Amino acid sequence: MKIVYSDALIVGGGLAGLRSAISCRQLGLKTIVLSLIPVKRSHSAAAQGGMQASLGNATKARGDNEDVHFMDTVKGSDWGCDQKVARMFVATAPKAIRELAAWGVPWSRVKAGERTAVIKGKKETFMEEEQAHGLINARDFGGTKMWRACFTGDATGHTMLYAVANEAMKLGTEILDRKEMISIIHNNGKCYGVVARDLVTGELIAYVAKGTLIATGGYGRIYKNTTNAVICNGVAAGIALETGIVRLGNMEAVQFHPTPIVPSGILLTEGCRGDGGLLRDKDGHAFMADYEPEKRDLASRDVVSRRMIEHIKKGKGISSPYGDHLWLDISILGAEHIHKNLRDVWEIAYCFNGIDLAQKGVYAPVRPMQHYSMGGIRTDHKGETKLKGLFSAGEAACWDLHGFNRLGGNSVSEAVVAGMIIGEYFAEHCEKAEVEITTDFIQKCLDAEQAKLEEIIKRTSGENPFKLKEEMQEIVEEHIGIFRDEAGLQKAVDELEKLCKRAKNIAIHYKELSANPELEEAYRVQRMIKIALCVAKGALERRESRGAHSREDYPKRDDANWLKRTLAYWKNEEDTMPTLEYEDLDVDEMEIAPAYRGYGPKGMIIEHEKTERRTKEIEEITQRLKNEGKNRWEIQDAIMPFELQPHYKARIERIGEKL
Ligand SMILES: Cc1cc2nc3c(=O)[nH]c(=O)nc-3n(C[C@H](O)[C@H](O)[C@H](O)COP(=O)(O)OP(=O)(O)OC[C@H]3O[C@@H](n4cnc5c(N)ncnc54)[C@H](O)[C@@H]3O)c2cc1C
Repeated sequence: MKIVYSDALIVGGGLAGLRSAISCRQLGLKTIVLSLIPVKRSHSAAAQGGMQASLGNATKARGDNEDVHFMDTVKGSDWGCDQKVARMFVATAPKAIRELAAWGVPWSRVKAGERTAVIKGKKETFMEEEQAHGLINARDFGGTKMWRACFTGDATGHTMLYAVANEAMKLGTEILDRKEMISIIHNNGKCYGVVARDLVTGELIAYVAKGTLIATGGYGRIYKNTTNAVICNGVAAGIALETGIVRLGNMEAVQFHPTPIVPSGILLTEGCRGDGGLLRDKDGHAFMADYEPEKRDLASRDVVSRRMIEHIKKGKGISSPYGDHLWLDISILGAEHIHKNLRDVWEIAYCFNGIDLAQKGVYAPVRPMQHYSMGGIRTDHKGETKLKGLFSAGEAACWDLHGFNRLGGNSVSEAVVAGMIIGEYFAEHCEKAEVEITTDFIQKCLDAEQAKLEEIIKRTSGENPFKLKEEMQEIVEEHIGIFRDEAGLQKAVDELEKLCKRAKNIAIHYKELSANPELEEAYRVQRMIKIALCVAKGALERRESRGAHSREDYPKRDDANWLKRTLAYWKNEEDTMPTLEYEDLDVDEMEIAPAYRGYGPKGMIIEHEKTERRTKEIEEITQRLKNEGKNRWEIQDAIMPFELQPHYKARIERIGEKL
């Protein structure tokens, strides 16, 4: 029996996991990070376009602050997010970006003087001020009022992850890669660590800790077409689900990105359109202006993705052996801009499609594909789940910053900010908690996992795990896509349930316990199917359209009945279907009452009975306090107080806003 003890155990070595590890090391805790792969290859490294933080340095960002960022995030979420969490986030993001700069992230900087940019298809020249020279720059992104996405070319995630990983290592975090969590050790409603499998030797190891934090990223790989890497499989969330205690929140909230390249699905960042790139149809027409005259190509991701599919359905797509697609034109930005700010995008198109996007009139074939998981392990404001001592952060979690649509650039930002805020709450928990289980109990947990693996190995005939995964991905792709309806979702639920039953009878050919990808597929696919079922069932039951969840048979956002978060859990081990319950979002506690989001026709909302009264109440408080000479922070606090560590809540200085 191998048991490794620590104070703080973190599963996942992306931005969220590693930044949380730093918070733990800053308290002097013995901290272990487990990862499937070397941590600098975590999926955070794939993030290209930018990190949102309201610094307000560049001319087109001037006037930005937490309030504007907050408003964009709430609207972007289609009023599905937790507004208190959004407030915690926007207050901390500017501090996060400066901390990252101090750790070596080479953020693009403002250069005083003339700056030329392509805006709404036209070249525009404006001045960057002397006082902003050398400060952190920003680019435009979808669904935001200001230029707020701070960036390092189009390798933002890469530079961020390297800086955070180096800092975590410098502080003495113990990083163990090629270790896969396969179950959670818990007793009497409390978590005490995980059982992990060494992916090289096959050995099972119990990592026992005073607190455990899951930061394992998203579940994009339940789809056939996705921008996500193979490690974004959602298995960790499936393992949390199997505790029967942990709830998964809003699993039906899945984001589709407008511009993965066809056919590989590798993402071409939103920064392409942020910098002025345009979507074009088969006639070369930049069609987004027809649908969304105001925000055009930079409408929220869910909106652009829907418009693209609508446009393709009108016969305006370009047919190809890989299905219809549209074009993304960045050639209008010019070769110099592309090679400096969109270098990765150029290389991806060149290496995978053999095209030179800097050549005038050469466009990238693009089509919306799965990109981001808004749903995940449900936590409270401090990042703790219903299983005491188990926390979660980053894309794996449903802290609920994003509701039903995440804004571009808000995710790497969330991962780091959550690592700061939740990381500190988690560290405080680990400092105080005790491990209250015996080695005998730990041995039983190890034995149980060993027995499950041996059962798969010993079975002489049964289901092929690769085939099960393929079938699952086909079902999810076909029926739980950008547009959804009752018949398709019911079919998905029924078909996935059949797969869930079949997955209990997996058999494999290669019989070794170590270095065995077939065995890995076998225990992973069982969890992936459960995750897919949570997505399907949640989507079936949510009979409304909100953000990325678009029901053709229920096109309105129904605040009267659906201003609530879906919670899925696995009641009994032998179940083949998740149980759903719901958590209300209280209009009386909102800082911005539900309203029109600014896209498509008005009148597509079924109002909540409290909305009108709360709107008036907010207006009345704001006016009264303004008359009393109160500042924006005091007014905010009167409308919706929120809890946050004082050093993160502290105000920051901006050009034109001294402390
Ligand atoms: C192509 C692409 C581009 C993007 N661009 C942007 C962008 O420009 N701006 C933005 O804000 N967001 C962007 N995103 C989203 C953003 O990158 C992610 O949401 C974010 O980085 C997730 O960070 P994380 O720390 O939560 O998880 P990840 O970085 O995905 O890390 C997950 C970690 O968990 C580990 N792990 C997983 N399962 C297990 C297990 N069972 N046991 C042990 N370890 C496990 C993995 O090894 C890994 O270390 C992009 C996403 C993609 C796919």
